[in-house]
Amino acid sequence: MAENWDVVVIGAGAIGLMTAQALADRDPRLRIAVFTGPGSGGASASSGAMIAPFTELTAAGLREPDHAERLQYARRAAALWRDHLARFDDGDLITSDGVVLIANTVSTDLADHNYRAIKSALRAETADFEQLDPAELGRGVSPAWHARPTEAILVHEEYAFDARAAFALMTGNWTSRCNIRLVQACAKLRHESPSSAPDVIDDTGQVHSAGAVVVAAGAWTRDLFPDDDRRLLPPVFSGVGMALLVAQPAVPIPLAVRTPNESFACGLHAVPQRDGLLYLGETSQLAVHPALHAPLGAIEHLARSSVRQLSTRLAETRHLGTLTGNRPVSLDLDPVIGRTALANVHVATGTGREGLALSPVIGEYLAGQVLAGHGNDIKLWDPQRPPQQAWTAEAAAAEVVRNTMCSFAEKEGKFAFAGWYEQAPRVLAAHAEQVYENLPAGFVIEPALCDLYLRDPESMTPILDEYLQAWGWHR
Ligand SMILES: Cc1cc2nc3c(=O)[nH]c(=O)nc-3n(C[C@H](O)[C@H](O)[C@H](O)COP(=O)(O)OP(=O)(O)OC[C@H]3O[C@@H](n4cnc5c(N)ncnc54)[C@H](O)[C@@H]3O)c2cc1C
Repeated sequence: MAENWDVVVIGAGAIGLMTAQALADRDPRLRIAVFTGPGSGGASASSGAMIAPFTELTAAGLREPDHAERLQYARRAAALWRDHLARFDDGDLITSDGVVLIANTVSTDLADHNYRAIKSALRAETADFEQLDPAELGRGVSPAWHARPTEAILVHEEYAFDARAAFALMTGNWTSRCNIRLVQACAKLRHESPSSAPDVIDDTGQVHSAGAVVVAAGAWTRDLFPDDDRRLLPPVFSGVGMALLVAQPAVPIPLAVRTPNESFACGLHAVPQRDGLLYLGETSQLAVHPALHAPLGAIEHLARSSVRQLSTRLAETRHLGTLTGNRPVSLDLDPVIGRTALANVHVATGTGREGLALSPVIGEYLAGQVLAGHGNDIKLWDPQRPPQQAWTAEAAAAEVVRNTMCSFAEKEGKFAFAGWYEQAPRVLAAHAEQVYENLPAGFVIEPALCDLYLRDPESMTPILDEYLQAWGWHR
């Protein structure tokens, strides 16, 4: 016999749980089930949980037409997370009140531009931050001489919390106190006709019927939709990210410290944890399908960067664990959130690097849509959207080169012959332009996705073709 729910949420990551929470807050009588899924590879509990509306910004992002709106969402979400954590926290989930941003000598000018863009945004918004003397950070930050900070600021408005501890509490007895039932199973949609609401079937074969379904299964979300409906959703890939858990060094790093975002990835960051450990993160490698383990090269790079750029004392600390999570990254890099063509089915994915931070705002929006047929209208993230081409092929190729050179510098790459500093970008540019000329149907993909296309064109091409054809895209 089918179990009946008012709302079924598929996925117990930040987006699924915050949506369930927002629904329960609006109407505590609702019967809500949240399916937890396979239990590994999710992004939320592996994340650094930096709630960083400003230090996440990039110069390129600030040129996007929706940047002001996004920043407002991020700032509101930051306030909502504080309130949310205060509901079940005894006061120590927030492990860093304030985030230190450093610019250093490691990278190319791309990182400098991003650093300056962050400072301009802080000033324009009159947000609370202070300039620090980079030579006297004195907060456990003690990099190698060739990676010394040139500038640093402390952003008081930002903070970080312990995601592992928070999600353990949120999926513990907190949900049952809010009348939210966690179902430890994978779910899929069973769909009779497009106009009737689909059932949800779990992996024991139990059928669940629901007034509304929210699919918030992160990087796995799109696979849950029937072919005809999936075609219309922007493809979502997996940004495989990895973090190292280490003991604090002899002189601990007591505040979250980070560099600006660069090379299409998050800046290098260290976040103190509630159990006294230190979380080190930075990596993101795009893949067509979610992965449960990070490549060894990513582990090597993260360990090396942390020791060089954050504290050489980290070389002496114990490595105590590795976390791997899959960020849901959409084709146009924007979130995919809202009502779908399937009756009573809503979707929430594609949040990329900042889904954890934005999740309270997304949860509120979805709760509004599910219960009242409208939210506070995040039109830009409408899931039923045609292909968005934000770049010309030439500009995209140039952006690929800028970020590739930045990544080369970050990995301490050097040329033996001085002329190659000029030549290498030119050779790369010629290659990138050729790649852009030959993309399926001439669709100019985001520069951040170019590397994925180069590594795995066989898997990516049919996914792109399916979406472009569904929307009648022609060169
Ligand atoms: C290493 C790393 C560091 C990050 N740092 C930050 C940060 O500092 N700040 C920030 O804002 N963001 C950060 N992010 C990004 C952020 O974590 C994501 O954007 C966000 O967590 C996505 O949330 P989600 O709920 O959509 O996905 P997820 O957290 O992946 O949750 C989706 C869940 O659905 C489950 N599922 C899959 N299939 C099914 C199924 N069939 N049935 C039921 N359940 C299913 C999965 O198991 C998963 O648990 C980071 C990500 C990573 C990987």
